[in-house]
Amino acid sequence: VLPHRSKEYEAIYHRAAKKCEDLFYTKYRVFIGTHSGSGMQETGIRNLVQKDVLCCINGAFSKRWHEVAVANGKQADKLEAEWGKAIEPDQLREALNKKHYEAVTIVHNETSTGCESPVKDLCAVVQEVSPDTLVMVDAVSSLAGTKVEMDAWGIDFLLTSSQKCLALPPGISLAGTNDRALEKAKTVENRGWYFDLILMEDYRIKNTTAMTSAVNMVYGLDFQLDRIFEEGLENRFARHAAMSKRVYDWSLEHGMEPFADPRYLSKTVATVKNTIGMDISKLNAFLLERGMRIANGYGSLKNQTFRIATMGETQMEDVEELLAYIEEFMK
Ligand SMILES: *Cc1c(COP(=O)(O)O)cnc(C)c1O
Repeated sequence: VLPHRSKEYEAIYHRAAKKCEDLFYTKYRVFIGTHSGSGMQETGIRNLVQKDVLCCINGAFSKRWHEVAVANGKQADKLEAEWGKAIEPDQLREALNKKHYEAVTIVHNETSTGCESPVKDLCAVVQEVSPDTLVMVDAVSSLAGTKVEMDAWGIDFLLTSSQKCLALPPGISLAGTNDRALEKAKTVENRGWYFDLILMEDYRIKNTTAMTSAVNMVYGLDFQLDRIFEEGLENRFARHAAMSKRVYDWSLEHGMEPFADPRYLSKTVATVKNTIGMDISKLNAFLLERGMRIANGYGSLKNQTFRIATMGETQMEDVEELLAYIEEFMK
């Protein structure tokens, strides 16, 4: 393992960080954190909010972001939609007209429900009603699997983890951050130390981190980003969309249906309503013997839904094989 304070490592760090900018569709910067994605939720809250934040909540991970804000002593208001539904632009417009917020938090792809929120339209609402409000987006289970255009949509802070669509081991996270967000951070008190974006920026411009980097994971990131760009981002997005569509179509052919609002179906985690009452634990035991595994529904959706990951390096052949096994189990 190279020392993190070495020219050789700095070159690798720089390469990986530059490729991340293309992945995020940003001309600004992407921080590489030595912690999972939830740490970036906390980073956003601590740096971009002094007091008032609006948290859009439509599932478990958006709910968590609100909990993170409250735990950090922020005045965090909730804007809620039923699980499986998206936050609608009109709903956000109404909330922003009532009160001024420093920032809004939105989860792009709710992994708990398989619902992809219309982030581009939500960003447009923020720009229309309250242009100085910063937009923070969690794209942990969608970035690198679905197009999320940070600069073009107007996202100020965009985060993801290594272990979902990037198909890397868990352990690091990424956060695209624009200049406006950094300027705001300079004015916010009690940003803490470990998650201080200003400290991170001082080191990032020197191609390193203030603390010890997750050196091995950054090698992996650099390598995997080459694979991703070799496939081509558009091809990768199309592959994810086709695999999830296959699962949704299959569910309809077998007396089930997608769980989320049909207008906002996730392309990376196909969530199906278990209307035929399959025993999901038994199904998973059956699949495990065949080298595969799906996810049960999240929290209160357990057994009522099941989730099939159509992300990362999963290929259509894998999806076909999995669906054939599920059909065998159903028989
Ligand atoms: C998995 C997930 C998280 C949590 O990320 P960690 O890397 O486990 O901290 C947050 N948001 C979404 C949407 C997720 O899918």
